[in-house]
Amino acid sequence: MRFVDVINKKAEGYALSTEEISEMIRQYTLGLIPDYQMSAMCMAIRLKGMDAREATDLTRAMMHSGDVVDLSDLPGVKLDKHSTGGVGDTTSLVVGPLVAACGGTVAKMSGRGLGHTGGTIDKMESIPGTNPEQTLENFRRIVLENGVAVNAQTGNLVPADKMMYALRDVTSTVRSCPLIAASIMSKKLASGADAIVLDVKTGSGAFMRTKEEAFELAKLMVDIGKLAGRKVRAIVTDMNQPLGMAVGNVLEVKEAMEVLSGDVPETDPLYEVCMILGANMLELAGLAHSEEEARAMLKENIQNGEGLKRFRRMFELEGGDSSYLTKETIDQLLQVRRHVYLQADQDGYVDHMNAEGIGTAAQMLGAGRATKEDKIDPAVGLVMKVRCGQPVSKGDVLADLYVNKETLLEDALNLLKKSIVICSEYRKPEPMVYGVIS
Ligand code: URA
Ligand code: CA
Repeated sequence: MRFVDVINKKAEGYALSTEEISEMIRQYTLGLIPDYQMSAMCMAIRLKGMDAREATDLTRAMMHSGDVVDLSDLPGVKLDKHSTGGVGDTTSLVVGPLVAACGGTVAKMSGRGLGHTGGTIDKMESIPGTNPEQTLENFRRIVLENGVAVNAQTGNLVPADKMMYALRDVTSTVRSCPLIAASIMSKKLASGADAIVLDVKTGSGAFMRTKEEAFELAKLMVDIGKLAGRKVRAIVTDMNQPLGMAVGNVLEVKEAMEVLSGDVPETDPLYEVCMILGANMLELAGLAHSEEEARAMLKENIQNGEGLKRFRRMFELEGGDSSYLTKETIDQLLQVRRHVYLQADQDGYVDHMNAEGIGTAAQMLGAGRATKEDKIDPAVGLVMKVRCGQPVSKGDVLADLYVNKETLLEDALNLLKKSIVICSEYRKPEPMVYGVIS
């Protein structure tokens, strides 16, 4: 069959067969299908969709386009978590060590940040010496010793996704439920975990702007995971404001450390999302029989310091200098040329935020990349001083900017200002967690 006919079949709204999908990915990965035809196919999929069977076939074909990691020699249920991308989302650095402290085995492969969202690998690298590009052998060894390791995806994991994502990024075909689900799940399945907890974000800082889209994506990913024989749960959470207060690399490592030290109140959204993700991981691993039991275990391992110990060891085992990872010393990595404070220009309540704008402002200061080649400045970023729903007076500090480079400072400040909207009337903020799909 000519590939143009397969594109036409999808463009007319028909479901593709398992063979058509696997041939498409095989040939595209080998360079036998040109980018322009694959772009047309991605657009046809974005516009006409795919059913769960097609999306599962696509995931499986993509998963087998490169290396598939086998972790079966490690003891216990291998756990992974994944977030669909957010701002100020430091949950991986909290939940990984904390779940390990509770007896879980967390083997997490992670990505770098691009655009307005941060990446766990970049945050790890912000602590001097840390090399999260360990060989697979070392990665296993670290998981075995510490119960948790976070590592960059190895070179040949799902090459089809790397090729397709580059196309999708420039052809307006990222925002497609089956394409996102296959992209994420192919990488998760290829990295070898038995059980996966997905944090699907919805709101102004997420790919899925509406709750309906987020639940659709969550359900599809859970279905794909189950059809592939894995245990999967998805939590749909809010991304209408940064999850934590810190947006930056060292800044987010510091905030993760604060959660693990018990210094963040239980009412805090970052704390709550860490608890719900961690609790679901412990339940999937069979280490807890109810959410209450799981939460109690997590809390105990914050209070007894075991989570923090695993966190510091996680950096050390990848070469990181953990002498920076204390309350007294981490600020040495946060020395910047100056601080700039964004102040409220009126009295009122924080009505809503644009999380993408806040993430982009931090990126403009140097905390993230606009292109793959950009270099990150680990010390810069911003710390939010307000939450949605909070009352403010004119002159109150809304955000503390950590600045080294001034070139885009003005633009960053303007964007940040537009992204924090103050109104005179109080409106109840969105809940942090919308639902769990299992
Ligand atoms: N994250 C991914 O890894 N892939 C997508 O398509 C979207 C978000
Ligand atoms: Ca539960």
